[in-house]
Amino acid sequence: MYTYVIVPASVDLAAGRSARREPGLKWCRFGDRVIYWTTGVADSAAGRRVRTLGTAEQSSRGLPHLVVQSGNSFRENFPGIRVIVDCGRYLAVELSDDEVLAVSHGSGADYGVEPLPPNVTVVVEARHAGRRARTTDLALTVLADQVSATHLKDSLLTLTTFGTRHSLSEGYRQAGDWVTEVLRTLGYAVTRIAISVGTGSSFSIVADKPGRLGNPQLVLVTAHLDSINHADGPLAPAPGADDNASGSAGVLEIARILADRADDQDLRLVLFGGEEEGLLGSEQYVQGLSQRDRNRLLAVINMDMVGSLNSARPAVLLEGAPVSQGLIDELAASAHDYTTLAVDVSLHPFASDHVPFITAGLPAVLTIEGSDSANHNVHTRDDTLATINYSLLCDIIRMNLVTTAKLIGTKTSINDLERWRQSSMDLD
Ligand SMILES: [Zn+2]
Repeated sequence: MYTYVIVPASVDLAAGRSARREPGLKWCRFGDRVIYWTTGVADSAAGRRVRTLGTAEQSSRGLPHLVVQSGNSFRENFPGIRVIVDCGRYLAVELSDDEVLAVSHGSGADYGVEPLPPNVTVVVEARHAGRRARTTDLALTVLADQVSATHLKDSLLTLTTFGTRHSLSEGYRQAGDWVTEVLRTLGYAVTRIAISVGTGSSFSIVADKPGRLGNPQLVLVTAHLDSINHADGPLAPAPGADDNASGSAGVLEIARILADRADDQDLRLVLFGGEEEGLLGSEQYVQGLSQRDRNRLLAVINMDMVGSLNSARPAVLLEGAPVSQGLIDELAASAHDYTTLAVDVSLHPFASDHVPFITAGLPAVLTIEGSDSANHNVHTRDDTLATINYSLLCDIIRMNLVTTAKLIGTKTSINDLERWRQSSMDLD
């Protein structure tokens, strides 16, 4: 038995703050809504307090749980489960004991379930968003302006021509060859890491660009290169345009723009295989990471599904953990200063290549399109180029590029500024 009420975050400021001092009363924030609840008898002090906050509901058939789903997988698998708050990727649901058993036997890679965590914020609008004036650095603006929809489109076109990029397929091998060639031509030192995927084997691709400092730190920019078709099986077409040719094209675009520049810190780009089989590439990568690299790892910026516009307002979700709060703040500041993106933040990492890093205590953040649960094409043959919104894609890449450049201390050159002056004169 539990009693709960859902309060708009704006109202919560006054009423909620004092209610939070009531013993036995718990809260959990989902963006612009906060759930207050208490378990046990309804006429307890906490129960009475809940009822002062709004129209409370009582239920004796289950308990509130948190679901983090990729795509809309949980809702599609369990349409009968009662949803208390729908915040897209994050849901508060009510589960009876039987339902807890049923959902924990589902396809675990696509969603995670836990009892609703008390007194935490699951997702919130970023601290920086809209609350201070934009401050831009001319050199970084010039750098960001080099993110090109045309280049991204070309990469996406190629990446979606291999039929499927299933980690064990010929298409994945061909996509890997193409990406390797692109990165080598740009001047990166490219290596492959063999990974096991079930009883088969696949690989991840690692591209290094050394910094100029004597004892450089390390910044990783990552995406998974593989795709999957859950609807029709492993051999079926899986163009994976949004999931995740978009992130892979983003890595290549950042690689292109930073290729010829001098930086202080080491930059490493990683394209993982085996993500769709359960984060296998990133898990095996983190296992094999040397103690030296762990110690000097400044940030991991991961891109997974960054090209589909699912809401009227272009938005990005930054998903990390307390260990990556500093990186989240940097990314949110870059988004505020160099893009038009609305930024949401969550500290509940789930189901992408940032997770193994966070589990190892390393500062990783997933950057993902806002409202990704509204994208129903993921993991089907319909995840095609037609679903890509280039303006959203460019904005998320701009945010990640600027943040990377700040972290590795990219030196912008006279040529950039000259090019910028030239183009502003052309406009006059
Ligand atoms: Zn993905």
